[in-house]
Amino acid sequence: MENTHATYDVSPWRGEFSDPAIERAYRKHSEVTVARHLRRGLMVWLVLLLLFGMLDYPVLGKSADFALVAGLRLATAALLLTLFFYSKRKPSLATDGYAVTAIEAFGFVLFFFLYFIRHDIVSWIIGVVAMLIISLYVFIPNRVYLSTLAAAFGIGGMMFAVWLRGFGAPVLVGLLFMLSLPMVVGFFTALRLQTVQRQEYALFQQVSSINRDLQNEIKQRQALEEELKRQATTDPLTGLFNRRQYEMLFNRERERCSRQHKFISLCVADLDHFKRINDTYGHDIGDLALRHAADLFSNLLRQSDVVGRFGGEEFVLILPDTDLEQAVAVISRLRQELESTPLASPVGEIRLTATFGVTQVFTGDDSIEAVIKRADQGLYEGKGAGRNRVMTA
Ligand code: GH3
Ligand code: MG
Ligand code: MG
Repeated sequence: MENTHATYDVSPWRGEFSDPAIERAYRKHSEVTVARHLRRGLMVWLVLLLLFGMLDYPVLGKSADFALVAGLRLATAALLLTLFFYSKRKPSLATDGYAVTAIEAFGFVLFFFLYFIRHDIVSWIIGVVAMLIISLYVFIPNRVYLSTLAAAFGIGGMMFAVWLRGFGAPVLVGLLFMLSLPMVVGFFTALRLQTVQRQEYALFQQVSSINRDLQNEIKQRQALEEELKRQATTDPLTGLFNRRQYEMLFNRERERCSRQHKFISLCVADLDHFKRINDTYGHDIGDLALRHAADLFSNLLRQSDVVGRFGGEEFVLILPDTDLEQAVAVISRLRQELESTPLASPVGEIRLTATFGVTQVFTGDDSIEAVIKRADQGLYEGKGAGRNRVMTA
């Protein structure tokens, strides 16, 4: 999370994030909305510009002055429309503020000329410029310092025009005060608005960051929980179910099979002459052999079958939905596969076999122990009969 420790300070005079990267991210985040607001502002501006243009003609008639004013209005309108359409394709134009500022400045030029041309409304024009100054802060979305540049251009230009008409210092100072007032009001209003918007964004980012942290925390805890569960239910060496787990699964499957009137069988397997493997190759190879047998059993049996590690080199295989005859077939295949799939160990191939005792679970069996005990008898007989075989009990 890049912004976890970022500082979301907003500079007090610019109303922008002090950190340029955050400011960039904020503008990117808000550009579509800002561009939409900008387009609304531009449209209102355009309509007023053309509407008031209709009042020029009755006063000015077909004159060079009218042509100049109409030309300026149309040029401004063209710029407004251009920005209107481009800001759709490139909303960053709205958050950068440069294009908006240029058009705002150009918009004032019309009024400088109107001041000389529309003698009938001279004092109004000053008022309209004051209105424009406040509007460009609060109505047209722009960065505060750029709005200030545009406003300063408007004030400077207006004062220049008034000076050109021969007014002296007292009028100019009065005008400066009159036009500075909307600038100050606009400036602080826009500054507050933009600061609040950024603080809101900062809060949102911080909350999302905390949320992401929490999500990660939850994921880690879930993984940990899974791991703990796995450790609590499986044997670390072979990954097979441990005694507690296969007993639980046995009880569950037995109940289900009895509900559904299905058979369930159980098999106990014991690797043959396993001591010899340990004695000949060492305990580590013995462990490999145990894993080999465990993997083979797990892979060959059905997903719904339960493979557990019973003791040292003994396994319990629970076969739900399987009667004795089917179980013997399945387990015989297992025996064959084990016999014909030697362990590829670092010391060479080691042939493994196992003896299996299979039994079916009956309603009279009160516990898994009773069933295992019976299967064990088969196993014992198998050992006695020469090992590497499947016996029923
Ligand atoms: P058989 O069953 O065919 O009668 O002979 P066996 O040699 O397998 O006899 P027994 O069941 O008595 O021996 C089991 C051996 O398994 C004893 C012990 O050394 C070994 N063993 C038990 N647990 C582990 C284990 O976790 N790792 C290894 N490497 N060996 C184990
Ligand atoms: Mg044994
Ligand atoms: Mg053994």
